[in-house]
Amino acid sequence: MSGDIKKLVIIGSGPAGLTAAIYGSRADLEPLVYTGTAYGGQLMVTSEVENFPGFPDPVLGPDLMERMRAQAERLGAKLIQEDVVGVDFTAYPFEVRASGGSVKALSVIVATGANPKRLNLESEMRLMGKGVSNCAVCDGFFFRGKRVAVAGGGDTGMEEATFLTKFASSVRVIHRRGELRASAALKKEAFSNPKISFIWDSVVTEVVGNGRVQGVRLRQLKTGEESELPIDGLFVAIGHEPNTKVFEGQLELEKNGYIRVKNGTETNVPGVFVAGDAHDYRYRQAVTAAADGCKALLDAEKFLKQKMV
Ligand code: NAP
Repeated sequence: MSGDIKKLVIIGSGPAGLTAAIYGSRADLEPLVYTGTAYGGQLMVTSEVENFPGFPDPVLGPDLMERMRAQAERLGAKLIQEDVVGVDFTAYPFEVRASGGSVKALSVIVATGANPKRLNLESEMRLMGKGVSNCAVCDGFFFRGKRVAVAGGGDTGMEEATFLTKFASSVRVIHRRGELRASAALKKEAFSNPKISFIWDSVVTEVVGNGRVQGVRLRQLKTGEESELPIDGLFVAIGHEPNTKVFEGQLELEKNGYIRVKNGTETNVPGVFVAGDAHDYRYRQAVTAAADGCKALLDAEKFLKQKMV
């Protein structure tokens, strides 16, 4: 096999990508992993993880990713901390272009994950990092004794709201419906927290502030009534967007931008597999992403065997 052609290139370094790298190393596929400049995926901005099997005590998200990375490297995976900027899956071997150069690959596992969604307000972007945040774990500390709001009624919203009560004096959850989407356990925790209160059937129409957040303008969707809520911080927790732009025109995507998957982890291109949140908008757990990375590797291995690599 030519040294220039990799048996396996993995794009992404969350639980899916690194699990594929661990299995791929053990299968002698000498995986090359493009970790992205922001290595580690969403667990890098998570605090305590209590539901990853094998950890009877909570483990910090970044620590868990560091362990996965160390395990993959010990087994021989080569990690490159660069972003993939383009791919060519129309010719074989495939081409993967990264910021620092390109490689040819006989098989590819796409594990690029997903990112938090934005409210798409000009004021949200202007005040990002100045009171607007997507990560309570990263920024909650700065809101000690302050009033904050969380936009979104899902599991992330409830986790963020509950986490923020460690620091903030009050946490208002702004939700566009009258019923939370979050799971029963997280809902219960939020409802029973005296610092958390809810603003139902409402959306943020503007983040108010000059240089730092001073409030949000709200619209009550049932009455159309507009109001202003004075707060010092807004945490946006309204779901996620897959990191799949680079595959547009190369892989079949669903309408919502996630990669279309079939028969386990196959994409529409034989030899290119997908694992984790880049296709999975249903389960989106670290453990399901990790399991998916394993499955994608087994599928890639089988594909390469059939190619007699
Ligand atoms: P999600 O379940 O999609 O919830 C997003 C929330 O934001 C929903 O309440 C949604 O409202 C609202 N929303 C979406 N777009 C909006 C917009 N443009 N303006 C205002 N509100 C908007 O996302 P998530 O909470 O990030 O959770 C994602 C997945 O990860 C879920 O499967 C979840 O179970 C999982 N998760 C699990 C845990 C855990 O188990 N510990 C923790 C975090 C996440 P509607 O309800 O009206 O759609």
